Parts: sequence; structure tokens; C-alpha cells
Amino acid sequence: MRAFVVCLPSGVRYWTVVDEQLRVHPAADAFLQHLRLGAGRAEGTTQAYATAVALYLVWCGQAQDDWREAVDRLGGFMLWLRHAPGPSTLRRMDGEPVALVVRQPRRINAVLVAVREFFKHAVAVGLAPSSVLAGLYEVGDDRWLPAELRAEGMGLRHIARPRHRLSVGERQVVRASDEEALALLHACRSARDRLIVLLLARAGLRRGEVAGLRRADVHLALDSTGAGCQVPGEHVHVVRREESPRGAWAKSGRSRAVPVDFLLVQAFDAYAWERQACQQAEGCDFVLVNLFRAPLGVPMRPGALNEVLAALSRRAGLDRQIHPHQLRHAFADNVLAAGGTVDEVQALLGHASPASTQPYLNPSTERLRTAVERVARTQAVR
Ligand SMILES: [Zn+2]
Repeated sequence: MRAFVVCLPSGVRYWTVVDEQLRVHPAADAFLQHLRLGAGRAEGTTQAYATAVALYLVWCGQAQDDWREAVDRLGGFMLWLRHAPGPSTLRRMDGEPVALVVRQPRRINAVLVAVREFFKHAVAVGLAPSSVLAGLYEVGDDRWLPAELRAEGMGLRHIARPRHRLSVGERQVVRASDEEALALLHACRSARDRLIVLLLARAGLRRGEVAGLRRADVHLALDSTGAGCQVPGEHVHVVRREESPRGAWAKSGRSRAVPVDFLLVQAFDAYAWERQACQQAEGCDFVLVNLFRAPLGVPMRPGALNEVLAALSRRAGLDRQIHPHQLRHAFADNVLAAGGTVDEVQALLGHASPASTQPYLNPSTERLRTAVERVARTQAVR
């Protein structure tokens, strides 16, 4: 069993699950197709879900168990995820083994979420009996809740709670220090790599957002009204698009304009020269392209950004490898340290909910001191 990408005639791609003879697993395929086409989820989501469902089916296969019945022993599946599978149990479409690290509780929970969704869909379309849900969910009612939280004007409300879930600690994003970010910048040997570091560290973009930036998204004039844009000042638009390479799908989700500072404007300018020298990149819409390795001029993969940072970390002699997210976190932290507010950070990072911003908020002792001193200044004893 393995995850396998399918490209439909319309150009839409989704991931499914196939066996060693490349036959699709009908229930898994119905579920994944529904996710992509019926629920409009991203291709990447179907990939993650296909991988999770394939893992579940591999486990069922090893136990020679029917996938519908094995659900009663999901605890065994969790144990297996934690300890058993080698990287060879799943292979990518090109036959390369995928190193699956699903040993951490967070990853295991993500796999379980996918398996539960798979079963809910199977029950909904009649591919599995509804009795399987009892193995997945504990059904309670809201009698024990305080009155104000109970469903209004209704009798009992039933609450389904997943039976299987590992506890995970509070997630904390570890930021890169300002010294580390600076060392990375100094280690850059190209304007492109410098731009990458700055887009992460000074604009707080996500890795995928940096890689997905199009030339038309960059507005570096003080006034972009000529380009039909009302956002004042220099900025980049972070636009969420369907990842279809044909661009046939409209942009979706939340988009935002992120102001950029003079350092970034300079970095964009310097990179424009470097990019221009690469003829293969001329027709490419993406800002960041392969300049130093084949195939030249094609958009950089998000994963290539990690490789750039890994190389820079090594060259800078840092004692750890910096990941894109740590620079994004450093940006959030610096905005707060400079007196920014949580709603500003939330908007800059493009978080839909303040809950997503929460893991970024672990104020350093210096910031706490500054906060106390600010009060002392404004409330000086006269
Ligand atoms: Zn604009």
C-alpha cells in the first residue's frame, strides 16, 4: 500500500492509495477524491491523508485483518506507528522509500485524524457499517456541562469525542536568534539566498509563501495605484492559490499584503539583476527560481528553501541548522519586542485565528523587563 498521485484530465491532482500492483483501494480512493473535489481541500492535504490511510491499511495487511474490523484495535495501530514501521513500508510514486517519522505523538494524532475522517466518509457512503464509529468515538451527552454551555432549547446534545489520542506538550516554536539570522545573511553568496533569508526573517513569510511568490505579487513602488493596487507603501502580496500549475483555479483562502522594509526592497533589486542573467527564467512567473542547478529557471520547491538554509547554517558555522519557520518566528518575536501587538503579529503572519499566534508568544526575559520598565516610566512616582 502506498500513496500515489493522480492527475485528472482537468489538471487537478490528488493523492490516492494503491497496492503493490497499482490497484486503487476503492474506499480510500472514494474518500480522497471526495476530499479534493467535493470538499475542495488542497492537494497537499490529500497527500497527507493518503499517506495516513496507507499506513493504516499496511498495518491491517500485516495483521491480515479486514480494514473495517481492525478499527476496534486502533490502540494496536498507535503502538505499531510508534515502534514498528520501517521506512520501507511506504513508497512514493517513483518507488523511492519515504522515511516516515510518525513516532511523535503529534504526528500519530494527525494520522488518527485522517483515519477517523476516512471511516466517517466510508460510513456516509455505505462502504463501512456505522458500527465502526463506536470504535472511533466515545459518545457522550452534554448533561454534565454547565447550563450556559448546553445546547439551547434542545434536549440532549450528543458529543462525539475521539477515543484515541496521545497527549502532546504545548507546542513552542523555537526562534532563530538575531545573531543567527545575521550570520545566515553574511554567509549568503547570492542575492537570491539573501532575499530568501530576508523574506523569512524580515517579512515573516511561510516557506511555501516565499516559494509561491509571483512577480506580479511584488509591489515595490511607494504608490502602486498604477498597478491597480490600493495598498500604500512597498509591500508583497501573499496570495493563496490553488497549486494547479495550469493556473486554471481561482485563488482561494486568505490573502494578505505584507509591508516590506528598505532592506528587502534592496534585496529584491539586487536579485532582479541576478535573475535577469538567467535566460531560462525569463518566461517564469515565480520570483524564486533555480539559478545554480538544473533545471535552471524553474520555480524553487519549498523544500529547496530548507536546503538553502541548511547550507547557509553550515557555512556560517552555526551549531544548529536553522529552519524557515524559526526565522518566521524570529520575525514575530521582533515585532512584539519592538512594541507590536498580538493582533498586528496575527495579521502579519496571516493567522486566521489568534490561537495560531499563541505558540509564537513566549516573551523573552528582556521583553518582560522592558514591559515592566514601560509601566515604571508612565507611572513614575511624582
Ligand atoms: Zn499591492
